[in-house]
Amino acid sequence: MSLRVICVGAGIAGLSTAIALREHAASITLLEASESVESMNIRAAGLTVYTCGANIMRDTLGLDPVGDVSAVQGHSIRAINWTSGSLDREIVPPTDDWYMAHRGSLLDALRSRATSPGGKGRAAKLLLGKIVTEIDVEAGRVLTSDGSVFEGDLIVGGDGVRSETRKAVVDKAIVQPSGLSIYRWTLTPVDWAGLPDKGAIDALIGPEARCIVTSDAKDMRLVTYRCHSSGLVNGALILPDHRLPFTSEDWTTAGSVEHLQSLVQDMGEPLKRIVGCVKSCGLWQLRKQAPLRTWFKAKAIILGDAAHPMLPFQAVAGALAMEDAEALQYALGQVGWIPARVPEALDLTFRLRFLRCSVIQHFSNSSPFDAGTMEKASTWSLENTATNAVAAVPLARDGADDKVQQAIATRVNANAGAFDVRATSGWVMNYKSAAAFSESQAAYILDKAFV
Ligand SMILES: Cc1cc2nc3c(=O)[nH]c(=O)nc-3n(C[C@H](O)[C@H](O)[C@H](O)COP(=O)(O)OP(=O)(O)OC[C@H]3O[C@@H](n4cnc5c(N)ncnc54)[C@H](O)[C@@H]3O)c2cc1C
Repeated sequence: MSLRVICVGAGIAGLSTAIALREHAASITLLEASESVESMNIRAAGLTVYTCGANIMRDTLGLDPVGDVSAVQGHSIRAINWTSGSLDREIVPPTDDWYMAHRGSLLDALRSRATSPGGKGRAAKLLLGKIVTEIDVEAGRVLTSDGSVFEGDLIVGGDGVRSETRKAVVDKAIVQPSGLSIYRWTLTPVDWAGLPDKGAIDALIGPEARCIVTSDAKDMRLVTYRCHSSGLVNGALILPDHRLPFTSEDWTTAGSVEHLQSLVQDMGEPLKRIVGCVKSCGLWQLRKQAPLRTWFKAKAIILGDAAHPMLPFQAVAGALAMEDAEALQYALGQVGWIPARVPEALDLTFRLRFLRCSVIQHFSNSSPFDAGTMEKASTWSLENTATNAVAAVPLARDGADDKVQQAIATRVNANAGAFDVRATSGWVMNYKSAAAFSESQAAYILDKAFV
């Protein structure tokens, strides 16, 4: 056991990696920019953990979604008509092995598994308030803003969509405004307890409801669901940036409840009443990026949103971050956990993960809004927030990687029958492990002609 691992970021990707590698690593250090666990803004609201994520959570991360994360087991997805409030359609997935989780609870459970001394191997060390500013991928050296230096045999960039590690791994990448932003909030049953028609609200998002509720206007989508056994309810409204009363210079900021509620004036009951209970909300700009040509260089690899950020329409990017961690574990196992063979393991990880993640990026970036609506939204945002984008992530917007995006689209179309990628939900959800995937028909190891 001689492998020293440094994880940049302690979100889903970083923490999952720490759990997946702790049995065989000599040391794991998690460097997290946030000053405290409570101040991590990625804790807010909920996320859906579909079957693929639940498989990895149980089999690799040792977590039961209900028992350890207090998640709510899902049953169906209900589409509610925006204006009438009536049920348009209900989709019941073939399995109910999927969950609606509170992000804070998920992160707490992952952190506990990663850092508690009781688990397999060595506990990871979590250092808060460590903002990584520079990475030497050849030397395996990481510098933080307080002047500390960390050395490792493997650096895992789990530092999200604004990744510092990505800058050290790829020369160029494009993270651009998607044209869409999202208001997010959390409600408790106390928030709507005194309202008339409480029964209708309970039926949609109350203690017994095990459904994701969605409702679409022409250029907005509301999503709400119970995300914690205590009754916490996650809510979100996706809207075009040009509908916002201001353009933010930041990607995340406090939202305006007044503005949020003004957007749902024409909405039917009881959803309008549910949004009426919101007391505070956050506002996130949604970014997207075309697939990258590589995710690794020398001793460093990027995983999770650092490698494949996407719009949230497939609700599966968090699960992909867990899958990435499991694939890295598998690849390091293939090379015997030997520091000198880390680059081989990173190459294998990339080959195992690239096509799956890029195809899902392709689908997840497709919004439910019509082409004209999206064109207007993204054109407006590129014109009005481009400086913001460049300032936040110093990456060029020159379209270079669009070639990879096009190649993915071509492959998806050409192989729809063979890989069943058109039946996205089945293909996305039925993922068990990197080993099983590499043996399956859908394993699509990269060839040189592709990239
Ligand atoms: C609106 C929305 C809804 C979503 N819904 C779902 C869903 O239902 N299901 C699902 O599976 N996924 C969903 N996702 C996607 C999911 O949230 C992300 O894929 C997931 O959080 C990515 O995890 P990560 O660890 O890669 O990155 P992050 O969660 O962004 O974590 C990165 C961490 O790195 C830290 N960090 C950043 N820079 C540095 C630095 N320089 N030094 C040190 N630390 C640093 C950050 O503080 C943070 O803690 C959604 C995303 C959005 C935006």
